[in-house]
Amino acid sequence: MEIYLDANATTPVLEAAKVAAIGVMMDDFGNPSSVHGAGLKARALMNEVRSCARRVLGAPTGQMLFLSGATEGIQTAVLSALNALRGRLDFDCLLYGATEHKVVPEALEHWNSLLGLDLQVLSIPVGSDGRHDLNWLRERAPRAGLVCTMAANNETGVVSDLEGIAAALRGSKALWLVDAVQALGKLSLRISDLPIDYAAFSGHKLYAPKGIGLLYVREGAPFTSLLTGGGQESALRSGTENMPGIAALGAVLDALERGNLSRPRETLARYRVQLSGALREAFPGILFNTLPELCLPTTLNFSVPGVDSKVLLDLFDAADMRISGGSACSASNAEPSHVLEAMGLPRQRSASAVRLSFGPASEPDMIEEACRRIRSCGQALRENCMIDGPPGELPPCERVTRFVVDGACCYLVADAASRRCLVIDPLPELTGQLFQWICGHEFVLAAVLDTHSHGDHASSASALRAGVPAHLCEIGRLDALGWPQGSEAIALGELSLNRLPIPGHTQDSTAYLLADSSGPCMAFVGDMVMPGALGRSDFEDSDPLAFGSSLRDLQQAVGPDTFLLPGHDYEGSFACTLRTERVHQPLLDGMLDGSMDAVYFATTKAMLEENLPPTRYQTMACGAQVGRCTPDEGVELERDNFMAMIAAVPTGIVVDVREPYEQRQGRAVDFGEQVRIETVPLSVLVNALPRWLALPRDTPLLFFCRSGNRSAQAARALRRLGHAESFSLAGGIALWPRLAPTERSSSVDPTS
Ligand code: PLP
Repeated sequence: MEIYLDANATTPVLEAAKVAAIGVMMDDFGNPSSVHGAGLKARALMNEVRSCARRVLGAPTGQMLFLSGATEGIQTAVLSALNALRGRLDFDCLLYGATEHKVVPEALEHWNSLLGLDLQVLSIPVGSDGRHDLNWLRERAPRAGLVCTMAANNETGVVSDLEGIAAALRGSKALWLVDAVQALGKLSLRISDLPIDYAAFSGHKLYAPKGIGLLYVREGAPFTSLLTGGGQESALRSGTENMPGIAALGAVLDALERGNLSRPRETLARYRVQLSGALREAFPGILFNTLPELCLPTTLNFSVPGVDSKVLLDLFDAADMRISGGSACSASNAEPSHVLEAMGLPRQRSASAVRLSFGPASEPDMIEEACRRIRSCGQALRENCMIDGPPGELPPCERVTRFVVDGACCYLVADAASRRCLVIDPLPELTGQLFQWICGHEFVLAAVLDTHSHGDHASSASALRAGVPAHLCEIGRLDALGWPQGSEAIALGELSLNRLPIPGHTQDSTAYLLADSSGPCMAFVGDMVMPGALGRSDFEDSDPLAFGSSLRDLQQAVGPDTFLLPGHDYEGSFACTLRTERVHQPLLDGMLDGSMDAVYFATTKAMLEENLPPTRYQTMACGAQVGRCTPDEGVELERDNFMAMIAAVPTGIVVDVREPYEQRQGRAVDFGEQVRIETVPLSVLVNALPRWLALPRDTPLLFFCRSGNRSAQAARALRRLGHAESFSLAGGIALWPRLAPTERSSSVDPTS
């Protein structure tokens, strides 16, 4: 059973709302502008719903317009207010809460510029509790033309002090827009009790379908239509009305008015206590990012230190629980939440923040089941040494584990037999995770190394060395990059690590060459050679003229086919070799085939590095990317084609790249009885590269994961390294049909 805990993003449609919508689509489908019977019926329904909205929202007067949702409502309100401010000299700014949904600042900037007002658009600061700074607002209000504040925040659930805001605005002529989207059905909002000029609502946040919303406009408040045309909604909002949406919203408002929709406040508060208790039990270090007494009882925003929000999202999703990181609108981009940043949370804490929100009509059984699964998620992280607690039976320890933060890579190299490990290029964001790994596995930490003095991020080498208990740490006198003084090599059981100076990117750049009993197997090359790029050499401490000969030294030391593990991997290519990079990078090829000298190489490289833009993570780019790393064409296979490929080529290898903590929670997927599934989590994928690349060229490698993103990354990386028959299951197993419980036991379970 799926547990949906992302109600602030959207909600399912109430049964009565669905019935009402179907009724007006199938039977009473008239157009409210028609004057015949069918039209009159539709108009009557619309009027009924409007009256109900007025009663529920406490707005007996003013306009109550149906429109497509809160985004349109907010645009209309901002346009109306700003159009009325044209030519007025008594205002110089527009104010909005720093934690508003991004539609508000975007609408302000858009209409301010389009109408040529050129007013200052300022954000009202919030305190660490997420509430507006009312003194700041009181000071600016006399010069403000419009003030926009939300009733409750979508990410944190923080409820604004609307009465305090009204008091701060008293005496000013500012118009006041309230984004009441998250308040509907969760707070008792009586609009006419406050001097609100505009209030926007959205149906899909409270059990109505998407595409229907309401805008309240106070009687006498300025109004300008966003849409003109057929004159619907008293010519305030043209366009044939969304009658299924209106009917559905009517059913929701009716249920709300009768008290049949939202559970009592005490019940919701009890749910919250249950969920936060389960979260505390599951993740003992958890930090809640808001004060419960200031929040909607239906929203919990929290961070688990050392555990990235992406890990939590994948983990909860594997347990069939839908939650969200930051705001749902920004779920696919890597930027931390602007809401938590405005509240002053450190970047690391906001990067690991997660939002859990349930609808006000939630059933107690659902909450109990959610608590059970939350505890099980905690257990999965503990068992994998990702949070404190007794680990379970650990998956076999792989030689190299890769961690990535905003494209920067850190590697943990471990030897299971000797129980020794070392870390290369640790990042501050990973200290907790690495510490958990080392202590949980009880491996001795033999070294913490940097490949160079980093310009784009801090190294957390000393914090890591200091944090690991003495009996698990074997570190003596070190040089600046962490190499044990006086040592030729670092031994980890049968593995040994040597170093090779490769000045260029920086003067101290160093490659670490890993060898096993059969010779060199991998090289950690920092930012010297990355997939599709050479490390930039335009820093103060770079040595551009030495770069070329360092490349030759590397070639001599490792040959063309040793896997190079880079310090940055912006496009998810995992590894490269000198042979693959010579195909993609003419500069590298010219240097290695002897056709370029060091000066020509350095000069051409410098030209490539002029005005390098930041990366998509908004971090400094460590090299000039030449062309896109990996083509996408044909990488993704729809389910039927994926299955056909499995059936057609029995030697093909099906690979589950989900992490062990997800696999533990995961659900069964039926690939068929004969299919053997390899589990190679993305974090340890580099270990399988030599084996997969030694396969006959026509052996299909078929990757899958939860959503298809990570498997596509793996397939593209394998193609780039030369194995063209690499594919990914499009959409991942999230789109896989669910198995009935009886089928489940007889199916192949990729999670086992
Ligand atoms: N305001 C808030 C607080 C929201 O949560 C949302 C939806 O995410 C919106 C505005 C936009 O609403 P709609 O989806 O109806 O355009």
